[in-house]
Amino acid sequence: MATLTVIGGPMFAGKSEELLRRIKNADLAGLTIEAFRPVLDTRQDGIATWRMNSEGEFVVAEKYEPVTVVNSPEDIYTVVGAKEPNMIIFDEAQFYPDWIVDVVKNLIFERLRKFGVLPQEVVVAGLDMWADGTPAGQMPNLLAMADVAIKIRGTCYLCKKPKKPSVMTYKERAGEGQVEVGGFKIYKPACRGCWRPPKK
Ligand SMILES: [Zn+2]
Repeated sequence: MATLTVIGGPMFAGKSEELLRRIKNADLAGLTIEAFRPVLDTRQDGIATWRMNSEGEFVVAEKYEPVTVVNSPEDIYTVVGAKEPNMIIFDEAQFYPDWIVDVVKNLIFERLRKFGVLPQEVVVAGLDMWADGTPAGQMPNLLAMADVAIKIRGTCYLCKKPKKPSVMTYKERAGEGQVEVGGFKIYKPACRGCWRPPKK
């Protein structure tokens, strides 16, 4: 059976670091990997981790490529059907339409029945809550389906207290709707004490 691991957490807490760690381990073990990201995520090409440079700007620290940009379920099935990878990665899962749940179900159940093949592991990473504190996209359903659900917590960038980990994503002002694609200029990881809903 394929295992499903879902990694959730706020922005800038280390979800991509965890994905890259798993990709490296799989690569060392000789497993084949296919990674996907939704077309809505326009911030970078691959799966990237970030670090702060001496000017206090966030820059890419490490990046995994290639990552297939996904418009529809067919984009995923075509690649998976052709390559039958051992490990399938979905990053930024909160940005996928609702069909991502059926695609993941298909990959961990149905393909076994239809084709007799399964990936060994499906790994999904994404924001678990939007900046207004409500569940993000289909992440709640994906976390519920997972064999292993991991919640990553980082540093609160508002108080920076080690005992108050970031579990939320903070955004000062409400932008254009709930889903606004952006980086550190707009979003900060925050602990529950510092977090406030975005000002309207
Ligand atoms: Zn805080």
